[in-house]
Amino acid sequence: MGKAKPAAAPSAKGPLEILQEYGCGSVPFSGANDALYERRLVFDHVIEPATATPREQFEALSAAVRDVLAQRWVETSRRHDTANPKQVYYLSMEFLIGRSLANNVANLLLSPLGAWFEKSKGVSLARLIEEEPDAGLGNGGLGRLAACCIDSLATLDVPAVGYGLRYDFGIFRQELRDGNQVEQPDPWLTEPDPWEVARPGEQVTVPVGCTFEVRHGDVRVKHAQPMNILGVPYDRPVVGYGGRTINTLRLWRAASPNVFDFGEFSGGDFFGAVGDRVLAESVTRVLYPDDSTARGRSLRFLQEYFLVRCSLDDIVKRFRRRGNDWAALPDKVAIQLNDTHPAMAVPELLRILLDEAGLGWDQAWDLTVRTLAYTNHTLLPEALEKWPVELFEALLPRHLELVYEINRRFLGDVAAKHPGDEGRLARVSLIEEGGARKVRMANLAIVGTHSTNGVAAIHSELLRTATVPDFAEVFPERFNNKTNGVTPRRWLLLANPDLAALLTDAVGPEWVTNLAHLRKADGLADDPAFRAKFLVAKRAAKLRFVDWLKATAGIAVDPDTLFDVQIKRIHEYKRQLLNAIQVVVWYNRLRANPSLAVPPRTVLFAGKAAPAYHLAKVIIKLVAAIGKVVNADPATRGKLRVEFLPNYSCTLAEHLIPAADLSEQISTAGYEASGTSNMKFMMNGALTVGTRDGANIEIAEEAGQENVFMFGLTADQVLGGRGWYNPQWHYENEPETRAALNLIFDNHFCPDEPGAFEAIRETLLGKGDYYMHLADLTEYVETQRGVMALYADRDAWAKKAVHNVARSGKFSSDRTIFEYCRDVWRAGPCRPA
Ligand SMILES: *Cc1c(COP(=O)(O)O)cnc(C)c1O
Repeated sequence: MGKAKPAAAPSAKGPLEILQEYGCGSVPFSGANDALYERRLVFDHVIEPATATPREQFEALSAAVRDVLAQRWVETSRRHDTANPKQVYYLSMEFLIGRSLANNVANLLLSPLGAWFEKSKGVSLARLIEEEPDAGLGNGGLGRLAACCIDSLATLDVPAVGYGLRYDFGIFRQELRDGNQVEQPDPWLTEPDPWEVARPGEQVTVPVGCTFEVRHGDVRVKHAQPMNILGVPYDRPVVGYGGRTINTLRLWRAASPNVFDFGEFSGGDFFGAVGDRVLAESVTRVLYPDDSTARGRSLRFLQEYFLVRCSLDDIVKRFRRRGNDWAALPDKVAIQLNDTHPAMAVPELLRILLDEAGLGWDQAWDLTVRTLAYTNHTLLPEALEKWPVELFEALLPRHLELVYEINRRFLGDVAAKHPGDEGRLARVSLIEEGGARKVRMANLAIVGTHSTNGVAAIHSELLRTATVPDFAEVFPERFNNKTNGVTPRRWLLLANPDLAALLTDAVGPEWVTNLAHLRKADGLADDPAFRAKFLVAKRAAKLRFVDWLKATAGIAVDPDTLFDVQIKRIHEYKRQLLNAIQVVVWYNRLRANPSLAVPPRTVLFAGKAAPAYHLAKVIIKLVAAIGKVVNADPATRGKLRVEFLPNYSCTLAEHLIPAADLSEQISTAGYEASGTSNMKFMMNGALTVGTRDGANIEIAEEAGQENVFMFGLTADQVLGGRGWYNPQWHYENEPETRAALNLIFDNHFCPDEPGAFEAIRETLLGKGDYYMHLADLTEYVETQRGVMALYADRDAWAKKAVHNVARSGKFSSDRTIFEYCRDVWRAGPCRPA
């Protein structure tokens, strides 16, 4: 790099200077970096480079890329320590990161590496990428949002740290056996992860007010035996696009403070002492696989507290190390709570300020509220976290004391404004009375932070007006909206190289960090040559997906069909069942009228069901069963195909979304907070068929109503219909609805397992069809007719698809993060000089 060797004594050298001497950090990948790869193979693996397995090659290449980014990583953290800017901390129980190698290579602008590697080593980068496990530390949208947000924070050069847990086992791997979901463990760390850096020197002690024992995967409290758990940080680089800023994702692993508790050991209880070690480590053993449900397990409670305690300890240490005064906390620190999972941060920060900093209540409370902010992710009542007071008493008595005092003061304020309004006090109280008393975590999060936001306009509005109107009345200034976004790096640049190249040709490369630039391509929707190029790119993405699917799952699909895609967690409110019934209606139409003119269509489903969510598993089974029958029926061959693709993950989404023609976003209106896959599909030129729910509404506004297919009840109509809606009416009065349902109920799709879909009859007709599938079915089928008619004219389809891509700029997580910075965190970039 032509830099003179520093003359100072070796002890004066920092890591930055040392790395510079090694020539790390030069971009693009050069001869100096070439040596890094060979060295990693020899030094880390001690092998002849020529004998390296693909896994060893993947590890060495990733480690070499890490060597390249190490310089900038160290520089970033030094820059932040020196400038002492306002720092953003993103606390989340989930980070659904996916794979890192290709992402880090692209964000470091090292893409020439691929060609270099293939030429000089004779190995395809695409092959090595398949060696990396998918870091599945999340369930779905909430975890993926966290991953997109930290990507955008780094790209916008905002000083930020993501805090999460380093689960030994991420979200389970889903297998399908005879259409049944089977959960397999995901031991993603059995081989060394080349991206993480363990920092045992920065470990944190987490005191807990009791010991516990593990029973059936849950813990049982053993009272009055306090214990300590250690939190060991593992850092992962978060590479901003262009590589100027490399932020950190810090994941905590639970460990035991010492191998032997000498008290117990000298008492002869060797196994007891070692057993406690295992107990402590079980705190970060496994991610809870529930999406949009709170299951109230005490181990989960411990996990949440562990995340909060470790992260706040770390945040406060960094704040003090930089020489800041306590009063400056909200000027230097912004902490975002991703849902209520880290809401214990409210009493924990208050505890630190009172008990450790020695501040008085009023100042400590003011600083707490002004430092913390909360994002709400769902209005589903079953998702609202409430923890038994009993658990607090046993594990965190001091925190419970603080929660009570917060509540006493808050209820005092409310009572002063609304004398005698006992109903109101009961509704807003942080404590749910009656039966086992519980702490309401959402109420705690709203009262203890200065900002509560929803994740799409309609969701924020419903939150304010329908879910917590009492709080919106007390704190109107706290409620705001931050519509979700997704990172265009992973979801367009990397996932869809052909479309990305076409867009760069059309509008220049700026769209990668400013997605609004895609607007410049909007006029090209009227250019027949551009539409043709768009269709060529779509076909390339389809072929790539078809090959990948064949190779990884052994499933063959025809790229010359309409790819109609619904991929997301399986949940009643997301209405995979509505899609399945619609497919059966078309199946019946095709059987009755073989000459029906419809374009050939492949309906693709993927998604995991929470292991304890019985009906969701039946829905998977139904889709698989419909596929088996429909795909084998000569009447529909070549016209309709249905596949349930196993093990939905980031990697599957990255392959499938670019190939999709149609994006299914058909939740019951008022129930999907935002959705983010809807945004990924739009960017990749799929048209949306959807309900007026979540971000679909904003997608339609941006794309233009004429470029999307919206149907179904509105959120208001769903609420209004609660009193009188009768699914039976649809069954009795709509012949096609009845015929489709009868096929399902009468075992047409499961001749070997009669009654397999009884639970579906029960939910739709027996229990009143809470999610109103049948209310929306006819209009949905009719909308699908319109979809297919348009697809028959590929050029007309392409015009709408191009408009969708060109108008997708709003849905970049860069825009989301910009708004959080401006309105919630009041934080800005800290760039290199
Ligand atoms: C984007 C994404 C989600 C969220 O999908 P929705 O359809 O918005 O619920 C879930 N899982 C994965 C792997 C994703 O990439």
